[in-house]
Amino acid sequence: MQTLTIVVPAYNEAHGLEAFHRRLSPVVAGLDLACSVLFVDDGSTDATWNRIRDLAARDPQVQGLRLSRNFGKEAALSAGIDHAESDAVVVIDADLQDPPERIPDLVAQWRAGYDVVYATRDAREGESPLKRLTAAAFYRMMERLSDTPLPRDTGDFRLLSRRAVHALRSLHERQRFMKGLFTWIGFRQTGIRYRRQARHQGRSKWSYWRLLNLAMEGITSFSVAPLRLATWIGLGSSLLAFAYGVWVFIKALIWGDPVRGYPTLVLVILFLGGVQLLALGVIGEYLGRMYAETKQRPLYFIEEHLGPTTRGPSDAVPQDLRSR
Ligand code: UDP
Ligand code: MG
Repeated sequence: MQTLTIVVPAYNEAHGLEAFHRRLSPVVAGLDLACSVLFVDDGSTDATWNRIRDLAARDPQVQGLRLSRNFGKEAALSAGIDHAESDAVVVIDADLQDPPERIPDLVAQWRAGYDVVYATRDAREGESPLKRLTAAAFYRMMERLSDTPLPRDTGDFRLLSRRAVHALRSLHERQRFMKGLFTWIGFRQTGIRYRRQARHQGRSKWSYWRLLNLAMEGITSFSVAPLRLATWIGLGSSLLAFAYGVWVFIKALIWGDPVRGYPTLVLVILFLGGVQLLALGVIGEYLGRMYAETKQRPLYFIEEHLGPTTRGPSDAVPQDLRSR
């Protein structure tokens, strides 16, 4: 029988996990696949890990992975994907915003020969108009800027075949924008549509500040357009400055050179200063990311692993890249 691992990143989801498991169980039972559910506790500060333990004690299909601290959803996903040894992997949120009932549809597309089956949302229930608007703007912008267009309105809810999983594991970058990476690996990809539901309980962990940073991550890891933009602005303002210089020179030849023009001088200095700082900032963004990459730090550390190969907390070894 073919195997499927369902990877569920969870950060402070203690109160929702039972309900999630209750809704997932019948779906899993209905699949003719050997399934396991791998919860990745992303350094929760509440009882999430205890809940995962309870579930694992009751249900042999449940496995758990506990990260040594909160590394963020992207790292939690990577941890889950790294530890899934199965023919296919499904990634799903723990807050029931992604309906588990659609997993069979993902599996059907996989059986039809697709390597990445993503789920595109029709509606975003329970999200404010502002969030919808900013999300829409982000996807449109990525479409324009990036060399690997993201499928619109698509979250992390998706199925990955074994070779897609192996491709993802071979990507060593530290600054991970998973949505982009899922698309970037290529292979045969297709989508299904679903209705995104309101969060079952608790609040979204993504403040606008975090979302803005994620968007920045997405743009800088998949596009050098901002760098190019800085070049174009620099070129444009140099041309303007040159034209203005010619004009000043001709003016001085014709009408002489009385000491005037202080306002224009200040204006030009301020404008160019601003452009230079902006360009420096853009370069800095990329430089900072290069710095983070060159440090080659592991993406996460495992504190505890509940599973078929249950290992104790003493195994909190660095996940060396070569051994992944
Ligand atoms: N999550 C995580 N680490 C974090 C933040 C979130 O593992 O640092 C998990 C969270 O438990 C949930 C999923 O990622 O299962 C999506 O998070 P959330 O619902 O807060 O995001 P949204 O649905 O608003 O995009
Ligand atoms: Mg959510």
